[in-house]
Amino acid sequence: MADHDAIIVGSGVNGLACAALLARGGWNVCVLERNDWFGGAIKTAEITEPGFKHDVFSAWHPLWVGGPAHAQLGADLARHGLEYLNTDLPTGSLYPDGESAFLLRTAAANAEELDRHHAGDGDAWRGLLDEFLPNADLAFGILGTELWSRHGAALGLKALRRLGNRGAAEFTGRLLISARDWLETAFASERAHGLLAPWVLHTGLGPDAAASGYMAQVIAVAVQEGGMPIPRGGGARLADALVAYIREQGGTCTTGVHVERVSSGGVRTADGRRLLAGRAVICNVTPTQLYGELLDGLEHKARRFRYGRSDMQIHFALSEPPRWEGDERLGRTAIVHLTPGLDGVSRAVNEAERGLLPAEATVVVGQPLTIDASRAPDGRGLLWIQLQELPWHVKGDAAGELGVGDGTWTEELRERYADRIQARLARHIPNLESSIIARTVLSPADLWEANVNLVHGDPYAGSLALDQNFLWRPLPSQPGHRTPVDAVWHVGASTHPGPGLGAGSGALVAAQLLEPPLGKRIAARFKRA
Ligand SMILES: Cc1cc2nc3c(=O)[nH]c(=O)nc-3n(C[C@H](O)[C@H](O)[C@H](O)COP(=O)(O)OP(=O)(O)OC[C@H]3O[C@@H](n4cnc5c(N)ncnc54)[C@H](O)[C@@H]3O)c2cc1C
Repeated sequence: MADHDAIIVGSGVNGLACAALLARGGWNVCVLERNDWFGGAIKTAEITEPGFKHDVFSAWHPLWVGGPAHAQLGADLARHGLEYLNTDLPTGSLYPDGESAFLLRTAAANAEELDRHHAGDGDAWRGLLDEFLPNADLAFGILGTELWSRHGAALGLKALRRLGNRGAAEFTGRLLISARDWLETAFASERAHGLLAPWVLHTGLGPDAAASGYMAQVIAVAVQEGGMPIPRGGGARLADALVAYIREQGGTCTTGVHVERVSSGGVRTADGRRLLAGRAVICNVTPTQLYGELLDGLEHKARRFRYGRSDMQIHFALSEPPRWEGDERLGRTAIVHLTPGLDGVSRAVNEAERGLLPAEATVVVGQPLTIDASRAPDGRGLLWIQLQELPWHVKGDAAGELGVGDGTWTEELRERYADRIQARLARHIPNLESSIIARTVLSPADLWEANVNLVHGDPYAGSLALDQNFLWRPLPSQPGHRTPVDAVWHVGASTHPGPGLGAGSGALVAAQLLEPPLGKRIAARFKRA
């Protein structure tokens, strides 16, 4: 007798969403999480000072709100206290000379903003929307479809029917363009390039990588249309609501349980318990853990899987809100990228990939208080800083300033690098250093320590280079979400459609497991006819 219909190993957003969708479909599910919190890269905690609620890892939820799991579960999660707040000022870029550019919430506002930097770029923006929106279902469909399945084939057929052979070939070719090539041909102004180039870092790519132009367009449109929603009270409200919903449906969620073995019939935990799964075991883990540790005899499969660049997070608790110099909108914008522009992002990515601390990193400055004042005591300030251009093994410093010792992420290296970022920020926020109450920094090593899926502090659980992306994620020899072992499934950022809070892989696996068998589908089709 099985203990559960499905056992889910790991409570990342994909594991929880998959479990919630299966529970909604009537399955008895059990989520096992090794950490002492649910949510994986979702965690809200007072890590600096009491009263300051920091999203320790991920913070921004446009992918969740625009994703398939939210569409199905949103109303139920709202019953469990999940409420989204949004903004009309989602993002902007600030350049070293103090100039800035913003991505806003309507086509007209964006066209006007881009024209401010170069007359004609507004028309280029409208042109992008005219070209992108009619086929947005295809562009977003790639990220919402199990590509190696009849649904993937149906998406391809839809593209062929609509666009014809030539059109479909052109459309697919355009998906592969780099952000640099797209931006430099689409917009005249370097301010426009610098506004969108940093966003490709949030997809695990660099601006010269294949397909980064497609990802930049997807994000630009998604941010214009969807803004930058975050949950009232902290990102953890999402994980809390998912767990509450799963339990309400009769499921079980437990922390502090490390799963060390998996088979088609169930799991074995580190404390020696065996739990049986009647229908599926769903692993929210990396390929290296899945094939190297959890499954028997398949170590060879993920040997070539590569992790991407490393990440650092800096959290500030401030005695007053940051007072930015320059455009007053900077203080009201959810995410400001401090960047020299497209070439600056490209250089910092290249330096990180060559093992160097970048001389002039892209600094992602998140300001959750611009949307949700409940995250800090009245009148205070709070910043969420992300640095996505770091090496795991540090060979040197491109600025020639910092000693890197043996190349590991020591406390000393972490704090000195954070000092450099803080000093750069202080040039644009004159009251920053005088208002710091506390600062907490997480190095790549700290991120890995906090979540086994963040190997090397890679926030995206695996390089998204083309050979590990889309049709080939997680592994060219095992793309999609099935594994070679019957009834064992693979979800999470390492799998298609990759990282982010969209819960795409969790939703795709739940949909496949809940799909009626072929016979029933055919009968239903005849009945409809
Ligand atoms: C610092 C940071 C900032 C980010 N910012 C954003 C953002 O703002 N917006 C956004 O959309 N995305 C963001 N991302 C990306 C996004 O958060 C992740 O891609 C996503 O949350 C990953 O979800 P996941 O389902 O892969 O699981 P994870 O969040 O990686 O969680 C997996 C869970 O499984 C558990 N686990 C693993 N192995 C076992 C085992 N053997 N037994 C039991 N439990 C196990 C782990 O402990 C972990 O809790 C960020 C990521 C990071 C790291």
